[in-house]
Amino acid sequence: MNIVIVGGGFCGSILAKKLGREDRFDTVLIDRKDKYQYYPALPELLSDPSISGKISLRYDSFLTGVEFIRREVKRITPEAIVTDKGRISYDRCVLCFGAEYPVRLDNKNNVYTVDDVENTLRTRKALHDSDHVLIIGGGLIGVEVAAEIADQLEKRITLVHPHQRLLERTPMDASEHAERFLHSRGVEIIFNDKVVENRDVFLTDKGKMIDADMAVWAGGLGFNRELLSGFDHDIFSEPWGLDVNSDLKLKHHEDIYVGGDITSLNEEKTGHNADVHGKFIFKDLIREMEGKGTLKYSTQKAPMIIGLGRKDGIVVFEGKILTGRPAATVKKMVEIGALRRLRF
Ligand SMILES: Cc1cc2nc3c(=O)[nH]c(=O)nc-3n(C[C@H](O)[C@H](O)[C@H](O)COP(=O)(O)OP(=O)(O)OC[C@H]3O[C@@H](n4cnc5c(N)ncnc54)[C@H](O)[C@@H]3O)c2cc1C
Repeated sequence: MNIVIVGGGFCGSILAKKLGREDRFDTVLIDRKDKYQYYPALPELLSDPSISGKISLRYDSFLTGVEFIRREVKRITPEAIVTDKGRISYDRCVLCFGAEYPVRLDNKNNVYTVDDVENTLRTRKALHDSDHVLIIGGGLIGVEVAAEIADQLEKRITLVHPHQRLLERTPMDASEHAERFLHSRGVEIIFNDKVVENRDVFLTDKGKMIDADMAVWAGGLGFNRELLSGFDHDIFSEPWGLDVNSDLKLKHHEDIYVGGDITSLNEEKTGHNADVHGKFIFKDLIREMEGKGTLKYSTQKAPMIIGLGRKDGIVVFEGKILTGRPAATVKKMVEIGALRRLRF
């Protein structure tokens, strides 16, 4: 059976690794990059570029029995994956091309992102030349980025968040811990407001002017719907993602699995969940090969881990939180484990 995986992130890499060990499958992995990148460590890269080699793994260094194709996927159809250099047909395909972090400002000058190694290194360079940094968004990424800059670099930082507390989907204790950490390092936090314009200064919805030298956009996720523009519109779920059945197959399409951030599942969009999807899809494919029935995916309780600089952090699990150095250690251990699982 020929399987084409679109996207070698958390979901695609673990799946490709497992499928590559099975002679029963001809597996192709397509990604625009030649390396897997461990995104949860990107905030650390802002102050320490030396880790870029440690958090990136070339696909050919850990995948065996898999054909890796470095290409930009331009379109996905029910029969084939269309890249900038031709079409690849499939018996089954797995869509796991991940979320994007689109900057929703007309003027994108001096607005940077922390969404892959290359962009994060660009952001790092801009930080070097800036005194006052604006962080747009106080969710997981905005908080981690603000915390890293506040902890490791001497900058004036303003963070604007549209909700009344940071990390608003976590328990109150977690929000308060993050806020205390940032306040103790001099970060100014503006709640219940949004950055809506970038002129000589950044302007908020409520009329505040912020004279930052640069901004880091952490204002929410998007995903590339255009890739599937030839499909019926009802594959797109509101408010988010590609509509999947209980076996993680795209609605109405038995040959197409969806994993990772772009599923419609009501779960946090995390590397942990994407990894679980990759393993689930692997098991389901094996069962199909063996003529057994399909599996049913159920959302699992998973910890949420937020880094605050090098020595602090927050782990949220089943409504309880762990903070401080133990949480920072958990984050590091998870990183080491995730990279080791791919390597060996
Ligand atoms: C700064 C930051 C910090 C984070 N911190 C954490 C954390 O602490 N814990 C946690 O669990 N999660 C964290 N996340 C979220 C986590 O990284 C994502 O949930 C996870 O990466 C999703 O995995 P995925 O497999 O869906 O897609 P991704 O890992 O995003 O991989 C998608 C892959 O598809 C490729 N691709 C996309 N479009 C195309 C195309 N058209 N053609 C070819 N290739 C394409 C990309 O190059 C990429 O390799 C963080 C994310 C960021 C950005």
